[in-house]
Amino acid sequence: MSLVRDPRPSVVVGGLAVALCAAAATSPAAAACNGFGLTPGQIGGTHFKASPVRHSVLGPGIHGTRITLSGYVLTSGCRAVRGARVDFWQADENGVYDDHGFRLRSHQFTDARGRYWLQTILPGPYANRTRHLHVTVRARGERAVTTMLYFPGVALNAHDPFIERSLIVRLRIAKHRLLARFDFVLSGR
Ligand code: FE
Repeated sequence: MSLVRDPRPSVVVGGLAVALCAAAATSPAAAACNGFGLTPGQIGGTHFKASPVRHSVLGPGIHGTRITLSGYVLTSGCRAVRGARVDFWQADENGVYDDHGFRLRSHQFTDARGRYWLQTILPGPYANRTRHLHVTVRARGERAVTTMLYFPGVALNAHDPFIERSLIVRLRIAKHRLLARFDFVLSGR
């Protein structure tokens, strides 16, 4: 298990170190397929439940550092997966899950280019867990992947028992907005 140590220069936003990286010269899809390989699965925990279809979980009563997460669902053969179902659930800024309602819970389906996007907040840490998002990706003909996404530059990353380097999102700032990028790579052609 490897921990977070990003050698790129960074700035701090919302308590996170945001790596400053140049735009990739290749297409986003190609960059993902040449990168980390299959997205590893992780435990789903005990907080999953059904959720509404939506691309934003922001709204009244949702406080914290706003972040937009986006990326692609791809096969290991670099084919975009359209119509993949992506479920997200997470703790609030205080590290608390809503196990009775639908706060900070959503699902969506990738578009024709295999893209997904979510407007949310940075999840708070709890117990021995660093900041993380839970996610399940399902697509016809593919094995479902349940996993967690992590954030670079969080001190608690060094002590989290589950974190994997390949599950850390890439962060950048654009027009004062915090943008996270992660591409899911499923097995398949
Ligand atoms: Fe959790």
